[in-house]
Amino acid sequence: MSQRMQQGQPLIILSEESQRTQGRDAQQMNINAGKAVAESVRTTLGPKGMDKMLVDSGGTVVVTNDGVTILKEMDIDHPAANMIVEVSETQEDEVGDGTTTAVILAGELLDQAEALLEQDVHATTIAQGYREAAARAKEILTDYADDVSTDDRAALAEVAVTAMTGKGAEASRDELAALVVDAVLAIEDDYGIDTDHVSIEKVVGGAIADSELIEGVIIDKERVNENMPYLVEDANIAVIDGAMEVRETEIDAEVNVTDPEQLEAFLAQEESQLQAMVDHLESLDVEAVFVGEGIDDMAQHFLAQAGIIAVRRAKSEDLRNLARASDATVVGAVSDLEADDVGYAGSVAQKDIGGDERIFVEDVEDAKSVTMVLRGGTEHVVDELARAIEDALGVVRATILDGAVVPGGGAPETALSLSLRDFADSVGGRQQLAVEAFADALDIVPRTLAENAGLDPIDSLVDLRKSHDGGDTATGLDAYTGEIIDMSTDGIVEPLRVKTQAIESATEAAVMILRIDDVIAAGELRAGDDDDEGDEMGGAGGMGGMGGMGGMGGMGGMGGMGGMGGMGGMM
Ligand code: ADP
Ligand code: MG
Repeated sequence: MSQRMQQGQPLIILSEESQRTQGRDAQQMNINAGKAVAESVRTTLGPKGMDKMLVDSGGTVVVTNDGVTILKEMDIDHPAANMIVEVSETQEDEVGDGTTTAVILAGELLDQAEALLEQDVHATTIAQGYREAAARAKEILTDYADDVSTDDRAALAEVAVTAMTGKGAEASRDELAALVVDAVLAIEDDYGIDTDHVSIEKVVGGAIADSELIEGVIIDKERVNENMPYLVEDANIAVIDGAMEVRETEIDAEVNVTDPEQLEAFLAQEESQLQAMVDHLESLDVEAVFVGEGIDDMAQHFLAQAGIIAVRRAKSEDLRNLARASDATVVGAVSDLEADDVGYAGSVAQKDIGGDERIFVEDVEDAKSVTMVLRGGTEHVVDELARAIEDALGVVRATILDGAVVPGGGAPETALSLSLRDFADSVGGRQQLAVEAFADALDIVPRTLAENAGLDPIDSLVDLRKSHDGGDTATGLDAYTGEIIDMSTDGIVEPLRVKTQAIESATEAAVMILRIDDVIAAGELRAGDDDDEGDEMGGAGGMGGMGGMGGMGGMGGMGGMGGMGGMGGMM
């Protein structure tokens, strides 16, 4: 469908391999790609959403319910599809939860736009209407949200529980939520909350309920020398991101040894340098030293003699977290260490955890860096638990930053959808159609929650609207009973920004895709099959046409699953 041929003389400005798709074809191809991405995660939404098993070309298996994880593992390489994947990544970075919601919303905005394009509403008009609706939606949501006090542990725990509902963490979610809240409150500092300061230590073995929060850090190493103590209490800690060795360059420099005495003198000098390092540590009362690079054998011996516990080749990230937790400063070399740089922990000990020896640095005052030890029966269970915990950490952080929550279960989407329909009346012209389409698109969330819970989506939507029209704007769909309940009183709440961010990124991506009417691909790009989605495979049809949904191709190859369509059908 190359359209290089102008009238008369062909004007060739693109290479032979380039492919160009223009106008409605380009729009259609991109819309199909975007919708296919959304379709691929739809069945995972909500507490009754199903999981996906993703198998990469190397045979590594990931079982997950997490939107962003699924899309990352799928290895999508259609450019428009990737714009939708980016929506989930932005959501993950900004909030940590709501990745499926954001993607589904983007897909539905594209779907609604498609219908408008067919009615000859111009893409620019749709884009404007969508932007206007999104801005208004943000205002409506902000008014709609309930304030929460940022030190209200119970409220924060509710948010964490909602985020973990339907994930692997289900059975112990109350206990886990309490750990998550403790962790986030612990790491908060004057600069905000960086959830990277909550390290996650996965341990295969034991039950999920045995997971715990360590006020400190765990270093995945053993002490470097057997003669060192297993435990030091009230330990002063040195953190060295360097080596405890006599620099190689210094000894490699050619030394001409003419007699044994000279060699001895040379070795003695090296030894005394290492002894000096250990003496320096001792002079600062250091009892535990964590080193990023190597520790010379001789130095190990001196350290053990001094009763100092030492770890070598610790990861930089671990060193930073350790320093933060123990209030130490990372220095580059032992000789740089000053009294001020030394940290403290009530206990530094090598302990067995799940059959692995690791170093625990605990009992620190006001730990600003903490560790969650997550346990589960198998690696897959622990991995999915970790993803659920990361979502929960994200929403607790977001709630503290926003100080506001909205009810879950499709309540805010329903409220918004109704308000935006009213708002649409005040918007003139064809843009009004776009605002209405935006309002309709929001229904995808309650509709999908209902579908995934095995309920009739139309009935559920009608009931929801009736309830909201009657003034109960916090009512949502209880995915377990199918009833319309007040989500706030049931404690099913989410941070405000889960919704505002999802709307913002989904709108941006949809608008960006809609405004494209010319795709010029330098290499191979298989233009989406234009065949209409008539069946359950609709989305998948688009995907097949996109070529390069590599990951999913692999799944098809597993047999039985029949690609995405098959999965959709299964659920
Ligand atoms: P996401 O990746 O978008 O966070 P989830 O699978 O976590 O996707 O589902 C989130 C949706 O599930 C939200 O709309 C949330 O309000 C809803 N939800 C969570 N708990 C419940 C519940 N108990 N009943 C109904 N809906 C719920
Ligand atoms: Mg979620």
